[in-house]
Amino acid sequence: MTVLDTVAGGPELCQERRLISEIPGPRSRELTARRNAALPAGLTSGASVYAAAAGGGVIVDVDGNSFIDLSSGIAVTTVGNSAPQVVARASAQLTRYTHTCFLATPYEPYIEVAETLNRITPGEHEKRTALFSTGAEALENAVKYARAFTKRPAVVVFDHAFHGRSLLTMTMTAKNQPYKHSFGPFSPEVYRAPMAYPYRWPSGPENCAAEAFSQFTQLIDSQIGADAVACVVVEPIQGEGGFIVPADGFLRSVADFCRDRGIVLVADEVQTGIARTGAWFASEHEGIVPDLITTAKGLAGGMPLAAVTGRAEIMDAAHSGGIGGTYAGNPVACAAALGVFEEIATHNLLDRAQRIGDIMVSELRDIAATTDVIGEIRGRGAMIAVELVTPGSRVPNRDALAAVSRHCLNNGVLTLTAGTFGNVLRFLPPLSISDDLLLDAFGVLRAAFAAL
Ligand SMILES: *Cc1c(COP(=O)(O)O)cnc(C)c1O
Repeated sequence: MTVLDTVAGGPELCQERRLISEIPGPRSRELTARRNAALPAGLTSGASVYAAAAGGGVIVDVDGNSFIDLSSGIAVTTVGNSAPQVVARASAQLTRYTHTCFLATPYEPYIEVAETLNRITPGEHEKRTALFSTGAEALENAVKYARAFTKRPAVVVFDHAFHGRSLLTMTMTAKNQPYKHSFGPFSPEVYRAPMAYPYRWPSGPENCAAEAFSQFTQLIDSQIGADAVACVVVEPIQGEGGFIVPADGFLRSVADFCRDRGIVLVADEVQTGIARTGAWFASEHEGIVPDLITTAKGLAGGMPLAAVTGRAEIMDAAHSGGIGGTYAGNPVACAAALGVFEEIATHNLLDRAQRIGDIMVSELRDIAATTDVIGEIRGRGAMIAVELVTPGSRVPNRDALAAVSRHCLNNGVLTLTAGTFGNVLRFLPPLSISDDLLLDAFGVLRAAFAAL
């Protein structure tokens, strides 16, 4: 035990960037040694420091260093780490019962989460929600619902997509390294269309939406056959792919096409959903109403919970007893999700996400004026990224990314990387971060680019 073992997290944690040891410090190095002996080599972590407490906009490590958090545990602690309502509701639930299995003895918090998701997801149609534990599991089940409803086999996904690491969702994921390499054979009946990625569209961003849509329709109509396609699955902003915002109009065309052909449109909002982009769901920015929506990351403040929400007639098509899971919709995780909804409402976090995004974009524009390695700044709300390139080109610049990330870590700022080409720096701060802390973090980022 050290003093730090008794430090509580949450918003009461001192909100400052503070480095009191070398990075990583002695306790983190000790844990790395233990980890190397106990964990498999392929299980890696971005940062070399170990968490002791977190809340507001900071993560304190086991050596007492306080880092500004620009990652939210990959878009999970959107309302802040150990947010008061999440802690209060989950703790109360822990003392009542930890598990009964919803398939065996059901309980109210599950129903309340479902009712809320049915209400806040886009569209006025009648909806149903089923709960799961992880994003991949939600995607697996969205495909099950779509296949049961349409009686068709094929799943269409996009370049740069990330949908998870289970066999089906790994197949749906685009990138070989690190997600798929040596893990095949893959699941059948998964087809891939180009994504309307404006920055890298060969004939220029102005042609991107129309040409990408034309290639998408050709894939479905001439190669697969629309009457064999159960669903099209798309992230309204691609997350791991590098925060790619599809060219304007592309997703509306895809949605219209799916409706005409009787294809289920699944929006994978596991990363974008639950207030991250300044709306409850990123689909709202695109003006689309998906048939099914998957959520997970931001849903329960870090407790494992995921959901499929969608049209009642599609969700009701799966036969009795066909869908479920031992832990799916765990009551403590459901209580935490109700705490997340409450935090978003009380603190007006949709507006806060937009405001945080405005600050980040303005800071990044200033930085971009001082360096020639930022190719593009993109994203929505508190989901913003920069794509780094070799000066004067669009050639991915992984070395610059590595140097900037390292500088940030060494100076007390935790960031995340992304992108098919490994050259995207992404920012996903908790919405509980203060303006001062956010500006301090971007000051460090400015210095990181200046040091290149
Ligand atoms: C993280 C993610 C997933 C997978 O979620 P897990 O909980 O890691 O299984 C699926 N889709 C998207 C868009 C994601 O960002």
